[in-house]
Amino acid sequence: MSREFDLVIVGAGITGAVLAGLAAARGVCAPERIAIVSDRFPASPNADADWDLRVFALSRASERVLRECGVWQRMRADRIFGYERMCVWDGTGAAHGRGCVVFDCAEIGEPNLGSIVDARVLQAHCLQAARDAGIVFIEAALHKLAATSTSSHIGLRDGRELRCQLLVGADGTESSTRELLGIGSVGHSYHQDALVAHVRTERPHQGCAWQRFLPTGPLAFLPLSDGRSSIVWSTVCREPARLSGLDSARFNAELTAAIDGAFGACEIVTPIAGFPLKLQYAVNYVVPGAALIGDAAHAVHPLAGQGLNLGLLDCAALVEVLCGAAGAQAIGDLRLLRRYERWRKSENLLAAAAMDGIDRLFSNADPTLTALRSAGLSAVGRLPFARREFARRALGLSGDLPFRADRSSQRK
Ligand SMILES: Cc1cc2nc3c(=O)[nH]c(=O)nc-3n(C[C@H](O)[C@H](O)[C@H](O)COP(=O)(O)OP(=O)(O)OC[C@H]3O[C@@H](n4cnc5c(N)ncnc54)[C@H](O)[C@@H]3O)c2cc1C
Repeated sequence: MSREFDLVIVGAGITGAVLAGLAAARGVCAPERIAIVSDRFPASPNADADWDLRVFALSRASERVLRECGVWQRMRADRIFGYERMCVWDGTGAAHGRGCVVFDCAEIGEPNLGSIVDARVLQAHCLQAARDAGIVFIEAALHKLAATSTSSHIGLRDGRELRCQLLVGADGTESSTRELLGIGSVGHSYHQDALVAHVRTERPHQGCAWQRFLPTGPLAFLPLSDGRSSIVWSTVCREPARLSGLDSARFNAELTAAIDGAFGACEIVTPIAGFPLKLQYAVNYVVPGAALIGDAAHAVHPLAGQGLNLGLLDCAALVEVLCGAAGAQAIGDLRLLRRYERWRKSENLLAAAAMDGIDRLFSNADPTLTALRSAGLSAVGRLPFARREFARRALGLSGDLPFRADRSSQRK
């Protein structure tokens, strides 16, 4: 026997849960007509658990999307930290006293430049908000899919079958939905791993996010509410294995040197986790009766902390497009879904290309390039207009955004 829904979302990550919550909140379909399918729904973290090793830097646009589905309001104040400044510098050029930019929220009249958020707590709240709204959770692994404009069929490994008007793949970079739908993807490995951990520092982070570009990859220090910083250290080839294998004293010394002593001595206070990095984008975001969102559609270098921010905008854009379905038009209608694809594919490709370009530019020790990029960074640092434009873009206050104040213009 098969169960019928309007919308079935595969993946219980943040984008999957947010899409479900937004679709219900915006009346795309009734909550009981929306299902989230996942092979595993994570348990909520204990209230006294430490900050998750994974943290996200989220933009104002993401905050708005999360407010819209009632998630932001649930976040504990000690698991969000609004950072007011961001300091970016070129590890090579700065040695010559150049190549540094400081962005400040005061320059753009905002209370902060974004928020550092605990990943596990955020995911738990996204899922709980969806559950509280009455969305159906189905724990099972995906087996087969067949999507058409009027109806999509999902076969689960335990033998159950689901039918829906629209199937959405929100199942991350290794998306089975993408594969079963026959949608190809392209990209390349960065041959870098990002090492993440939390550290204590001799000098305070001053509510500032720090990023130093080194020839081996960028090193970020993201400020946490308890005074510690979360590091994201992207390094090439054998470096991640070497660094992870060092004893704490040696690791601390290398980290302190890599961030140029900006905080005095650094002390690692958690285990280290590593994530292989790649650039990947799906050739299509939609087929009749199905769409991809989040990392299932695009994976970008984390150097500017944009991956989830892009995924949350996918959710908002898809819901905004579905709200525009005319009369009896099915939400799986390809003409409708193409509007979502045209909108988000171009924005995401631009962002992916920008991250890729920045990584290539800074992971290069060529003296001419070093001089050029340092001059470029210094120029941005000296031009208030350029600094403001960068900060507004990163915060999601400019660009082609869904859920704008001016909502009268439906997308055609
Ligand atoms: C080191 C690092 C730092 C980052 N920092 C930032 C940052 O600061 N800001 C930011 O915006 N982004 C950041 N990102 C990017 C961000 O982590 C991702 O873009 C985001 O987690 C993607 O969310 P998602 O919901 O699309 O996919 P995922 O988080 O991958 O979730 C997919 C879900 O689908 C489930 N799933 C997988 N396969 C199946 C299946 N077959 N059936 C059912 N369910 C399935 C998985 O269990 C998972 O729950 C960072 C990434 C890295 C690697």
